[in-house]
Amino acid sequence: MITTDKITSKKAIELEDKHGAHNYHPLPVVLERGEGVHVWDVEGKRYYDFLSAYSAVNQGHCHPKIVNALVEQAKTLNLTSRAFHNNVLGVFEKYITEYFGYDKVLPMNTGAEAVETAIKLCRKWAYKKKGIPENQAKIVVCENNFHGRTTTIVSFSNDPDGYGDYGPYTPGFIRIPYNDTDALAEALKDPHVAGFLFEPIQGEAGVFVPDEGYLKKCYELCKENNVLYIADEVQTGIARTGKMLACDHENVRPDVVILGKAISGGVYPVSAVLADDDVMLVIKPGQHGSTFGGNPVGAQVAMAALEVIKEEKLAERSIELGEILRRELRAIKSDMITLVRGKGLLNAIVIKPKNGKEAWDVCVKMAENGLLAKPTHGDIIRFAPPLVITEEQLMECVDIIRKSVLSFE
Ligand code: PMP
Repeated sequence: MITTDKITSKKAIELEDKHGAHNYHPLPVVLERGEGVHVWDVEGKRYYDFLSAYSAVNQGHCHPKIVNALVEQAKTLNLTSRAFHNNVLGVFEKYITEYFGYDKVLPMNTGAEAVETAIKLCRKWAYKKKGIPENQAKIVVCENNFHGRTTTIVSFSNDPDGYGDYGPYTPGFIRIPYNDTDALAEALKDPHVAGFLFEPIQGEAGVFVPDEGYLKKCYELCKENNVLYIADEVQTGIARTGKMLACDHENVRPDVVILGKAISGGVYPVSAVLADDDVMLVIKPGQHGSTFGGNPVGAQVAMAALEVIKEEKLAERSIELGEILRRELRAIKSDMITLVRGKGLLNAIVIKPKNGKEAWDVCVKMAENGLLAKPTHGDIIRFAPPLVITEEQLMECVDIIRKSVLSFE
């Protein structure tokens, strides 16, 4: 293995800057180790991770059970492609479909790939089942959505950084305001609409939580109009918001569920689409796939990661600790924090700049004080620690956040 020991933060950042594409703007922190809720930088400084790799590390860094599943399977069989069967895939498929209560799963690797899969599934269902004329199917999406970075997905983004200069764009999407059921009702009047693709909470938009009842009302509208209700739970799923799926908060069962990130505890890229037979079986052999999708390593990792969620009651912890976190954040007496919102342990604060200091400066200060979080859209800071965090640790984190924000007073 090429050694990366003894590299300094400065050197590591220089190397990335010189040899890597400049498609990210990270905080100037270089991490080399993670365990549970903590990560350490190359100089040995310890931090609380309050981003959890955008909610991929819900089970905590390097969870021993998940890592063990990876190591054991990696020593045995890594990849067969889907040209042949293997002894793990079917076991995983049974496990995950029973876990979430769906007939079938289609495994992929990244969140964006799973979203693409759901889009293709929806379109094929539109032609094979709903009877929409060829190439006329439309999918309704929401303003400020984030579903990934592929060409088709950015085609229906309204974030100029996301879509700018990447045209020509894929047609077939109707964008409506989020959290607006009238807008959905209006859009669904178009008989060529086949699906409604949405995030139960808009994570990248800044943890925008829709009104109570929104998810359910949208579901009813979709049912009335024979439209697939497609929940992108890549960020909200796997206990992050205090339920296994965020849609569970309103007891709605999506026609199609898109999962990624924490389905593997951040150990290995695994994503999946769940649906029942009448939808999933419209895709026939050879019509969709991925070389790595459903590989034995990913399958074992995902089963271990899903077991950990139940064994360690992470959904219950997320609900409880989320309440505490929001209560404590709201008690911070600073006019820089104008809003605290979230569900479970998916939360955000909105920062009003003060004395020229913005959310970015708050994040840099928090990092100095031992807590890592990242601003989104300039003025929002997401707080999403691993769900294995204890109440005591959470309170220590609140102290760090308070101290950091108040340092700008
Ligand atoms: N959907 C949602 C809701 C997401 O938050 C993300 C990632 N932030 C994605 C899809 C894309 O996942 P990936 O980066 O693994 O492609």
